[in-house]
This record gives sequence, C-alpha cells and structure tokens, in this order.
Amino acid sequence: MIVTDLPGYPSLREYQRIVGTKQFSAIEELAGRLSGVRLQEINSTRYGGGVSEILISYVPFLNALGLETTWSVMEAEPAFFDVTKTLHNFLQGRGGGFSPAMIETYWEAQRQNEGLIEDDSDVVTIHDPQPLGLVEFLTNRELERKRLLWRCHVQLETVPTATVGSIGNILRRLVEKYHAGVFSSFQYLPLWNVPSFIIPPFIDPLSEKNRDLPLSEIDATLAKYGIDPEKPIVTQVSRYDVFKDPVGVIQAFKKVRQKMPCQLVLVGGRACDDPECFIVLREVRETAEDDPEIHILDLPPDSHREINALQRASDVIVQKSIKEGFGLTVTEGLWKEKPVVAGSVGGIPLQIRDGWNGYLVSTIRETADRILHLLRNPELAVEMGARGKEFVREYYLLTRGVQDHLTAVDQVVNGRITARDSVICYHPQVVTTRMAGCAARD
Ligand code: UDP
Repeated sequence: MIVTDLPGYPSLREYQRIVGTKQFSAIEELAGRLSGVRLQEINSTRYGGGVSEILISYVPFLNALGLETTWSVMEAEPAFFDVTKTLHNFLQGRGGGFSPAMIETYWEAQRQNEGLIEDDSDVVTIHDPQPLGLVEFLTNRELERKRLLWRCHVQLETVPTATVGSIGNILRRLVEKYHAGVFSSFQYLPLWNVPSFIIPPFIDPLSEKNRDLPLSEIDATLAKYGIDPEKPIVTQVSRYDVFKDPVGVIQAFKKVRQKMPCQLVLVGGRACDDPECFIVLREVRETAEDDPEIHILDLPPDSHREINALQRASDVIVQKSIKEGFGLTVTEGLWKEKPVVAGSVGGIPLQIRDGWNGYLVSTIRETADRILHLLRNPELAVEMGARGKEFVREYYLLTRGVQDHLTAVDQVVNGRITARDSVICYHPQVVTTRMAGCAARD
C-alpha cells in the first residue's frame, strides 16, 4: 500500500520560526545536495506506534523540501504480525522460540510484498524487522544501484547469531546486506558488519499531536472523558503493551492516591500490528477494578488532538516502561512543559536528566514517590517542564531528525561510505566523546 492521504502540512517557514534560521539553512543545503535523489520509506503499519508517528511528518517535510519521497506500508495476514511481535520481543531480550513454521510465515509475507520496493527509488529506508527481508528480492544490479538503510527503532539487545539458520543468524545476514543501519541510541548498535548511524527519533512540533491548543479544546476533551479539571491529573499515553507496564502505573497511582487526591488517565489504542494488546488491556481493566478515578481510554488511531489535549491537561506525565526504543511519549510530554516520570530504560535516559526535567525510575515505589513529590511541589514541576521544552527544542524536533537523516543519506549516496567499515554518525547529545575511527557529524 502506498500512503498518499497525508494531511495538509504546515509551511517550512513555520518550522524555521521554531528552530531558527541557522539549523534551517543547514537542512536546505543538504536537500540541495541531494536534489534529484528519490527516497522511499517502508514500514508495516500506517497508524499506531512511534514509527508511523514519525513518518506522518517526515515524509511530507522532505517533499516540501523538494525531495521526492514516498511511503509504502506492507500488507500481511494477522499470523505474520504474531510472528513479528515475537520477533520484536526477542530482539528486546524477551525469550521466545522460533519454529520453522514461524520463519516460513515471515518469508511468506515478504514474498507477498516483494514488489514494494519501487523500481525508481534511489534510497530506500526499511523500518524495523517486519519488512527487513524485502532486501532478499532485489537483484545484484538493484543492490548496486540503490542504497538501502535499515532503520531499527527497537531496543536491540545482544542477539545470538552463531547458529546458522537461527532467527538471530537470519537477521544478521539480512541486515548485513544493507548499505547502512540507523539506530536510536549508541547502546543498540549490534556488533554486526554494517555501517551504522546513531539518530534518535523526534517529534513534529506542528503536528496535531504537538501543536498549541486553545484552552477551550483542552477543557472540552476533559469533559468528554469525565475527567475532573480541578483534581491533579497523572497521565500515561501508550499502546497497551507489557513493556509499557500500564499495570505498574496503576499500582503506583494507587499508592500516590492514598496520600493525595488525584486521577490517573491511561491513554492507549491498538496498533494494528500488535495482537497482544487485547490481553494487556484486559489485565489493565482488572487491575483498575472499576475505580472511577482511573480513566482507561482506548482511543482510535487518529486521536492526535485529544491525546495532545490530555497531555497538556496533565500535571505529571508518566512513561513507566520496562523496555523502550526511544519513548516518543516522553518527548511529547517534555515538549508540553510537563515533568516526566519514566522508566530508566532504552532511549528515556537520553531525554530525562534525573531531577532536572523529570525523574528516572525503576520500581513502582519509586514511581509513586516521584509522582507524589511533583504533585506536592507544583513550582518544581513548572521549572522542570520549562527545561524539558527547551531541551526538546534543541535535540528532538523533526528538523533535527531531518538534518541527521539527510546527513546519513548524503554520506551513503555521495560515496562517503564506500566499504563496510563501521562509520558512526554521532548525534551530539548522544555521545559527547569521539571514538577513534568513527566519523562525527560536522
Ligand atoms: N500513541 C497514539 N495513540 C495511542 C498510544 C500512543 O497516538 O493510543 C502515540 C504516542 O502519542 C506516540 C507514539 O504513539 O507518538 C508512541 O511512540 P513511542 O515511541 O512512545 O512508543 P512505541 O509505540 O513506538 O513503542
């Protein structure tokens, strides 16, 4: 499926106003250097989850810059998404066996989507493991002519690859066919033979999810869901997924509420490539025990403005993940000037400096203590929120993401990566020291 119904888009000059002319000129210069290069993005879901959230803004932005960019979504049977969910969990370090039948289901879906890589694309970015295998269907000539990037959004643990035919071995072999890998954080770099870039994800400050909203709209959203505007609001926005630990959030909230009146809002939805969410949602409802101060929302995938309103109405944003790729919900909360209490995992410590713009937590007890501290000290919450917004402005907006990606594309296209040596494009906030033998972004 080719995504064409992208929403009306803010003008590039509006972004320039947010981030300043210096960064903007750098982006325009890169786009000029890549003029005529055709880009294609491929992932496995149109709605739901961080990858589609990124592509919804990234693709129109590149087109507005004059770089022709298309977005294709693979289509497959539910059985395939069961397999790729297990694969996702496996990559994030949760065990799970792979039977030959599962591997066959994976390949069946790749075959069904064989034609997805467009003939005339020059640089193809494949997101996550779901469409990773499409590289197998390219001829040697195509592989020479095109440039293929694998953009990994998951928190990649050390994957055992020694056994030939094992899932880890298959993945490694596939990834090593790509011209480069892109990882969200230094910690997730696999020790594989693929040049790699470190590029954290980003949010779009002008999207429906993140733009400023009138107060009346925020109030109306609270009223719609029966949330009391007078009582402190603690919110977690996340797919219903065990790694997001919504059950742990409820347990922490119950502790906080023993000491201070407040409400919990769990905002979630069902990413259409995640078959497990129904099970998690059931468990969440059981744990909440019909508590009227726990609002469990199961929203349609296009509820961006409502999520925006709920984040803005909150006193504290929580993201109590146990595993996390990057955690765009953290970025979104910080951008809305909220202190964020979040699990110290994955990309979250790249966004939260403990005690500065939020708190990093591991246990339910800690989560409860930090939420309570922020609710009892609203001035501190305001200070942290202000720092959070400026931090995101500097490092985690769409413009910075585009700049980093175009830098990577430029290196791959214009031949600065010629061999399969490890070239790392540092994001300045991720790694502050240079390592011998690695290239740094300007
Ligand atoms: N999101 C959403 N609806 C939901 C749950 C999440 O629109 O019901 C959005 C959320 O606002 C964020 C993205 O999906 O933009 C989730 O990205 P994140 O990196 O936090 O987690 P992922 O789902 O990719 O693991």
